[in-house]
Amino acid sequence: MRQSKLFTKTQKEISKEENSINAQFLLRAGFIDRLTSGVFSYLPLGLRVLNKIENIIREEMNSVGGQEILMPALHPRENWDVTGRWDVVDVLFKLTGSGEKEYALGATHEEVVTPLLKKQIFSYKDLPQAVYQIQTKFRNESRAKSGILRGREFRMKDLYSFHADQIDLDSYYEKVKDAYFRIYEKCGIGALTYYTYASGGAFSKFSHEFQTLTPSGEDMIYICDDCHISVNKEILEELQNACPECKTPKLREEKAIEVGNIFKLGTRFSTPFGLSFKDEQDNLHDVIMGCYGIGPSRVMGTIVEVHNDDKGIIWPKNIAPYQVHLVSLCREQADIDQVDNLYHQLTHNGIEVLYDDREGVRAGEKFADSDLIGIPVRLVVSPKTLEKNSVEVKIRTEGEAHLLPLEDVERCVRLM
Ligand code: ATP
Ligand code: MG
Repeated sequence: MRQSKLFTKTQKEISKEENSINAQFLLRAGFIDRLTSGVFSYLPLGLRVLNKIENIIREEMNSVGGQEILMPALHPRENWDVTGRWDVVDVLFKLTGSGEKEYALGATHEEVVTPLLKKQIFSYKDLPQAVYQIQTKFRNESRAKSGILRGREFRMKDLYSFHADQIDLDSYYEKVKDAYFRIYEKCGIGALTYYTYASGGAFSKFSHEFQTLTPSGEDMIYICDDCHISVNKEILEELQNACPECKTPKLREEKAIEVGNIFKLGTRFSTPFGLSFKDEQDNLHDVIMGCYGIGPSRVMGTIVEVHNDDKGIIWPKNIAPYQVHLVSLCREQADIDQVDNLYHQLTHNGIEVLYDDREGVRAGEKFADSDLIGIPVRLVVSPKTLEKNSVEVKIRTEGEAHLLPLEDVERCVRLM
């Protein structure tokens, strides 16, 4: 991508209404735009990051047998009346359509997926099953102040699993837990993310959250370093202030962001919708369900919260919008031709390159933009480096740059 063609520009200052680190950097660098509080557009650079995160999640959901679907975001009130949640879920956006028909905007999809699966599941032979979607969700959050960490409109992957018995749910739940850790690992927040005992809501004793440590987190968690798990403050007392696994009371308090949440739903939704199956003896049972949520847009914001410095974002390799930021400081046509050639060579060989080919922009400004945007590898080409048939390489996390012969660039970039 030629930066001269990119329709977004970086900004020095942004509105004071957004003071979180993720909003500041993402808005300034032109990854997102704010329409109103908690509602954002994803611009070319930001959408590339979001898509990468969603594709990592998609791969991992497919690896645990999830089948991807796309459910409606517009839900008729009747479905929410079946579960009694129309008046209970306080963040539900409600609207009235033609003929005074009432709807909710999808905040979660148990009310849609359960009757959907009821049309397909009849016998034990139809189980287990797992379906998921990656979709825009709507929640009327009272405080939407943390950039894309807490949106009123945001992205969510929600997986729902359907089982004949609790044992099958329990073993599937563990598989999804492992898949979640692979997702956070690939997104560069694995080491900071803790499996956390949390309240189960209406469904079961506990649910499990994935909490990423950062001072900007809204949640308080209590870490057991021996078991490498943690407890959400909301259930700490219920657990007698001790680790639920080894029972030690030695817990470390930290702030964290909830980046995922998985629940054993049991029959909370299958019973009201009458989702049941016949066993081998023809006896009828309610299907046992699990649900597994993760917010790709919140994950993106969390990555920015934990990977940055005073100059800007530092994207982990797998989810950076581009792998290489090629910055040209050349003015003579013969030199420009050489940088163009390098750009074509890299892109034709499958390397994702953002090419700062802008004319009339000072070197200092190009470097500041490059640091702000946060692509992991920067290649600078100037008349001076070309004299030595070289480019200057700088890794975003390192202070020092070094020269690399032009002919070695492609090979070296692949290794970075
Ligand atoms: P919170 O406690 O932060 O309000 P929640 O517990 O209500 O979140 P869940 O219903 O568990 O959220 O949703 C599953 C996942 O979706 C969360 O773990 C989070 O990653 C993401 N998510 C939830 N609400 C938002 C939001 N308002 N903006 C962005 N992502 C969200
Ligand atoms: Mg949650």
